[in-house]
Formats: sequence, structure tokens, C-alpha cells
Amino acid sequence: MDLKNLYREVILDHNKHPRNFGTLAPPAQIAQGHNPLCGDQLIVSIHRVGDTVTDVRFEGSGCAISTASASLMTEAIKGKRVAEIEELMHRVHALLTTVGGQSDGLGKLAALSGVAEYPARVKCATLAWHTLAQALKGANTTVVTE
Ligand code: ZN
Repeated sequence: MDLKNLYREVILDHNKHPRNFGTLAPPAQIAQGHNPLCGDQLIVSIHRVGDTVTDVRFEGSGCAISTASASLMTEAIKGKRVAEIEELMHRVHALLTTVGGQSDGLGKLAALSGVAEYPARVKCATLAWHTLAQALKGANTTVVTE
């Protein structure tokens, strides 16, 4: 199995069996995201204790890329400190917007590396991360990608 097939398998698996699906009970920090280009809708909720995101869930409806990106994101950030998550956000954003971008050290998130070749799908993949950024701010808001 070559790398592209492996990445496709990861995306399909996370789309079919999303990890950490659902919404956390109060006092969760919750944000909604909407990508009108594709129709993707997400709700990301986190529990934050001090500087650490102790739990995270997402739910919503969208295409395979948006669902897989959100699912992979929840696995990647759970238990991490906010500063680490912000660093990860920058690296993932670079990966999603740079063809042939650097995926070393990103673990399973490397499966999203092919997205950069499809500009129309980039917003599908970044939606979860924009929504997470809003949830981290603690304001219950909706973010719409333009
Ligand atoms: Zn989409």
C-alpha cells in the first residue's frame, strides 16, 4: 500500500467512524463552524482545566474531509496544553495550504497532506481547526469560513 492509499484509508476510516463524536456538557467551551462553500457544519466543544484541554468532542454534518479532519484533530489535541495546540494549528494550516508541505511529527494528521492539492477542499479541512480556535477563546460563537 503506498502512502496516498494509506492516507485515503485513514480519511475514510475517520469519516465512517468519527472519534470523540458528540458534545460535552457544561461548562464546556463551545463554538460552531460553517463552511458555506461545501455545506459543512461543525460544533466543537472542549473542557479546559487551566492551560490544558482535558477533553474535546465534535459533532455536525459535512463531507468526508471535514469530518475526518475534525476527528483526527480531536485525537491530536486531547490532553495537550493550549500553547502546544496553537503550535499544532499553525503546522496543520501550513500542511493544508502547501502542496508537498511538511508533515514530519504530525502523526496521523499527515493523512490530510493531500488536501493542499485540491484548493476547493482546503476550507473543508481547516473548518474544524478554525472552530477549535474559537472554542479555545471561550466565546460561544459561530465562525464562517469565507
Ligand atoms: Zn466539505
